[in-house]
Amino acid sequence: MSTIARTMNMGLFPVRVDPLKCVEESASFGGSISVSKFERLHEYLLDKSGEAQVDIQFGQDEQGTALLRGKCQAQVRMTCQRCMNPVSVDLSTDFELGIVFSDEQAKHLPKAYEPVVVDGEQIELEPVIEDELILSLPMFAYHPECGEHGYQNESEPEPEDIEAPNNPFSVLEQLKKK
Ligand SMILES: [Zn+2]
Repeated sequence: MSTIARTMNMGLFPVRVDPLKCVEESASFGGSISVSKFERLHEYLLDKSGEAQVDIQFGQDEQGTALLRGKCQAQVRMTCQRCMNPVSVDLSTDFELGIVFSDEQAKHLPKAYEPVVVDGEQIELEPVIEDELILSLPMFAYHPECGEHGYQNESEPEPEDIEAPNNPFSVLEQLKKK
């Protein structure tokens, strides 16, 4: 009997599952993962705060390709590239991955799917989610308006000439014109 399918939607996201069995059962899992677990993601973040909400569903397409579909949302903190203060960023990603067991298999996957290569009999879910979150990161994080911090940095990237560079309100005026 499957213990995996029975634990679905209990709020605890499984660490690893048997992908073939999950595809067979069209298993789905939902839950949250602490951002603090994603060590590779941390390189891009200001701190390790936040929770990722994850929903995934195993299945297959009409050609019998094994698929892992899912969505993930997380609020993380990054550094604003305009004022260099902390900024909250909502990450959101939808993905549809083809489950394969070798690089050779990955080559034959329909182009619509990114491959997830399973090493062994089980698939580790957190690294897959982490990859998707990293891919969803904005190239640069900005506040919609930096003024709330009343702080201006010399590396201000706005090309306009600012008459009074020490006055944060003139910066706000510049931003509002956009
Ligand atoms: Zn800012």
